[in-house]
Amino acid sequence: MDLGIAGKKAIVCAASKGLGRGCAESLAREGVDVTICSRTVETLEQAAKEIRALGGGAVTAVACDITTDEGRAAVLEACPNPDILINNAGGPPPGDFRDWERDDWIKAVDANMLTPIFLIKSVVDGMIERKFGRIVNITSSAVKAPIDILGLSNGARAGLTGFVAGIARKTVQHNVTINAVLPGPFDTDRLRSNVKVMAEKNGISYDEMAAKRAASNPAGRFGTSHEFGELCAFVCSAQAGYMTGQNLLLDGGAYPGTL
Ligand code: NAP
Repeated sequence: MDLGIAGKKAIVCAASKGLGRGCAESLAREGVDVTICSRTVETLEQAAKEIRALGGGAVTAVACDITTDEGRAAVLEACPNPDILINNAGGPPPGDFRDWERDDWIKAVDANMLTPIFLIKSVVDGMIERKFGRIVNITSSAVKAPIDILGLSNGARAGLTGFVAGIARKTVQHNVTINAVLPGPFDTDRLRSNVKVMAEKNGISYDEMAAKRAASNPAGRFGTSHEFGELCAFVCSAQAGYMTGQNLLLDGGAYPGTL
């Protein structure tokens, strides 16, 4: 299926690894020129090289912290008029809400609520003028089914989700959609480090813990960044212009509800 987005320009945030990387690869394969960012120069440059090798759209790499004003300015300077924006950043740490102070909350809200909101604010009017825009926020299955130890994530991402629910209905008449993709367990560095902590806590090996967690998912496995990226690319397609304000859960069926 031709997604009809070859030649478009995309900003993909936090994309040297994991889910952001999966999205950048799928978009580049469709012929989209992607501007990717992450903080660590070496892994970012390596990712850019590997995405270029796929032979699709052009790849520009901007090493920055996307949760800062300077980081967002650098990315927007490299790609001032994107047709596609994939919002992503590292997730907040797990813990007990009794231990979190104001600074912990501000950090989480900055990264997982305000950063996407400010990027949307910077690009949405240009998309409206050009009559094409696709914005995808990578959030979490925790938005639909909160995970108690991820209170910072549950709170900040719910704020973003509520904000987007309002504006997504205002932009769609201009062929500008705003949706979220909600990952369940995906085999990325973030998940692997969580599994490592759980294995140590339970006194079992990493492999045993990973197998246990994978088996507890109805699919019997973790998702892959490739699967995530392919859904993201479809949400960014020309064909997906009638879908907005949606929260698409991609979790192997882990959420047990009928709807
Ligand atoms: P990952 O594999 O650890 O990759 C994170 C990527 O983001 C890396 O490229 C990292 O590079 C970059 N990054 C992190 N903080 C950044 C920042 N402030 N500015 C720019 N780049 C930044 O993580 P992931 O699993 O793909 O997770 C992506 C998002 O999905 C996170 O918010 C996570 O909480 C959420 N999520 C993941 C899962 C899962 O199972 N994997 C499930 C639910 C939700 P640098 O470190 O070099 O900056």
